[in-house]
Amino acid sequence: MTRRDFFKKLGVSFASICATGGTIFVLAKEKEEVEDKGLEATPIKEKSIELWKWAKESYYYTKLKNERVRCKKCPHRCLLKKNYRGACRTNVNKDGVLYTKSYGNPCCINVDPIEKKPFYHFLPGTKAFSIATAGCNLRCRYCQNWDISQKKPEETRNYDLLPERLIDVVCEWRDKDSLVKSLSYTYSEPTAFYEYMVDSSVLAKKKGIKNTVVTSGYIDRVPLKRLCREVDAIKIDLKGFNEDFYRNVCSGEFDYAKESCEIVASSNIWFEIVNLVVPTLNDNMDEIKKMCEWICSLSPDIPLHFSRFYPQYKLKNLPKTPMETLYTTYQIAKNSGLNYVYIGNVEFIGEWNNTYCPDCKTSLIERIGYTITKNIIKGDSCPNCKKKISGVWKV
Ligand code: SF4
Repeated sequence: MTRRDFFKKLGVSFASICATGGTIFVLAKEKEEVEDKGLEATPIKEKSIELWKWAKESYYYTKLKNERVRCKKCPHRCLLKKNYRGACRTNVNKDGVLYTKSYGNPCCINVDPIEKKPFYHFLPGTKAFSIATAGCNLRCRYCQNWDISQKKPEETRNYDLLPERLIDVVCEWRDKDSLVKSLSYTYSEPTAFYEYMVDSSVLAKKKGIKNTVVTSGYIDRVPLKRLCREVDAIKIDLKGFNEDFYRNVCSGEFDYAKESCEIVASSNIWFEIVNLVVPTLNDNMDEIKKMCEWICSLSPDIPLHFSRFYPQYKLKNLPKTPMETLYTTYQIAKNSGLNYVYIGNVEFIGEWNNTYCPDCKTSLIERIGYTITKNIIKGDSCPNCKKKISGVWKV
């Protein structure tokens, strides 16, 4: 058995190990361990379904015989009998109608630097009013926010913020802090609160607030294309470049994530990609090279962030990503022709966290952590050679 196989086996057999930490932003009930339901993201049978004020009929589903429904929001395409709940834990079949139960009830709210999402080429130095509800349609074994993503909306303490009220609150924050320029749907998985996100985005846009989405991209193409019409920027967490990794570590299918990247790359909104490098599971350099070349074929101007893995949730047995691995992935990405490559989730990374002009190599934006220490982009161009730098630099 190779070292890689050994760690891989450990990663799966330690399924019962759960992290006890959580995000500081959560109004969480007491921490509970999440029951390990195995690798499959499957619908969940309930005794009965109770609706509440934060329920809304789903935007994408089909009614079938015998009060069954087919959800069409994400590639799982859950087939839900009456009193069943989707794998994301937020969509429920009540008497043959599909409802979302995550409409206006975020469990996390925080005002973050936009760099934390990370967006490095979208209004740098500004702040994003950030929200999440409970729920997620994937089961990533290294999830940072499992204490909300792997919960039902009934299991978290929630704020009461229907879209109209949410936008009022964001505007109040903007009045107090002019750096707040955007509303970000993040932390858990926005596909799990799709209707809330779309309706809020429409209202935010009317008030001059930008909308940004931080997602796995595990979403059906029709709802994704609609989202691309309503929001300003999407960051996709491309979890690996390997079908087995998607299936065994995330309970998803690789091809759908790829397709989402293609759809967003061909839209008119801003797009960045993150790849979390997990030791022994998705750090094969041939795959990293294929991924970089494929992203480059979509556009060499898509920023790619390699993010450092830290042991947590169900993968506490793995080591954190060695810095040498991240430096190698950075170099592979640059050699593939990508213009903007970064290493993230690491403090004080210096030059690896800066934006350089692809032509004359002038250092244009420098960052320490999430703080911008220098930004000399003039308009949307390099002040030295006048090369246009891709991004959204002004509201
Ligand atoms: S969003 Fe996905 S996981 Fe949730 S119910 Fe619909 S198909 Fe299932």
